[in-house]
Amino acid sequence: MKTPNTLLANTGTTIFTVMSALAVQHSAINLGQGFPDTEGPADVVQAAADALLDHRNQYPPLTGVPELRQAVAHANQRFYGLDMDPATEVVVTSGATEAITACLMALLNPGDEVVLIEPLYDTYLPVVKLLGAIPRLVRLQPPNWEIPRAELAAAFGPKTKAILLNTPMNPTGKVFTTAELAFIADLITRNDCYAICDEVYEHLTFDGWKHIPLMTLPGMRERCLRVGSAGKTFSLTGWKIGYVTAPAALAGLVAKAHQNLTFTTPPNLQRAVAQGLAKGDDYFASLGAELATRRDRLSEGLASIGFKVLPAHGSYFVTVDFTPLGFNGDDVAFCQHITKAAKVTAIPLSAFYDGDAPRQYARFAFCKRFEVLDEAVARLSAHFSRKPALTQTARTA
Ligand code: PMP
Ligand code: GLN
Repeated sequence: MKTPNTLLANTGTTIFTVMSALAVQHSAINLGQGFPDTEGPADVVQAAADALLDHRNQYPPLTGVPELRQAVAHANQRFYGLDMDPATEVVVTSGATEAITACLMALLNPGDEVVLIEPLYDTYLPVVKLLGAIPRLVRLQPPNWEIPRAELAAAFGPKTKAILLNTPMNPTGKVFTTAELAFIADLITRNDCYAICDEVYEHLTFDGWKHIPLMTLPGMRERCLRVGSAGKTFSLTGWKIGYVTAPAALAGLVAKAHQNLTFTTPPNLQRAVAQGLAKGDDYFASLGAELATRRDRLSEGLASIGFKVLPAHGSYFVTVDFTPLGFNGDDVAFCQHITKAAKVTAIPLSAFYDGDAPRQYARFAFCKRFEVLDEAVARLSAHFSRKPALTQTARTA
């Protein structure tokens, strides 16, 4: 038999699925895969239920139902002052995952180079490679995840077609500053390329940090494809409603990619999300404020056990260095160990790297109820205090 697609054969099952399955197998509290453990807004869920019953269940328009495209364009104006045409500059997709793939398809020819920033979300690299494009990886260093400016500049060249930028960033919780974005915008202009902006955590920022879309910077309106996700904005991650905002010529190509991927996206969910995007400012402000209290609760608990907790200014996630606990093994071993022995699951950070990666970090999701976070901390605390052997063994990895 001939070998099927080798790139996919060489792509492992996503770490989120692997660790969630392990959590279920060991009855562990799952602070791995990023999903809230409470329902999103009841009125948005009710709107989706109502919309199922009003006889609009056949194929919706290719680029999304008009009310959602209108709502996305309006949200761009309301939150960022971006003036987008809902008819030609918005494409609704089945989740940000599809949106990112569709954007990459819209831009890349085989042989084009794409600048990617590590640690990176796990779908980026396989899709870039499947399209026959060439990744140029630039690594941010903990604990502050600053951009290595000279290295980033050197990653751009005549073959660069795009940079894929994720802010607020998973897994680091980094929120890119205006100065960093201006530096990136300058590289994009000088190298005449595009940016795919994964901004799914746009409303999930803390401590006064504000998300700034690269698209709002001078010269970037024509070069950016901005991706959002209702899953994150409405704490309904299973809905898989994403949206791309891009200049008409690029949005048209994203639509062509979408027509070959899924063609359309469930109409009742689209209409409910349109209603959600019209919610008052208090709703959007409460998202970050609420999550920040959960980040603090978990961070303080983990710090009290001895973890070195890295700062997180946005997203669902906090990264910890487990070196101080003296665990004898790498991050994969550590996350498996705490799942099995302490009954708490996290994600090894090396899953967000290509090849050689740091091995002493784990990512914990804090988008959970307080009692769940407290119980997770209690379990880890009990585990590490009753295992002196673990804390006495030096790390060898
Ligand atoms: N990008 C990032 C950075 C993410 O963390 C996620 C996780 N959900 C996605 C994209 C995918 O979003 P969606 O669930 O809307 O496909
Ligand atoms: N984005 C989520 C995370 O980073 C997981 C999404 C998924 O499971 N594909 O945890």
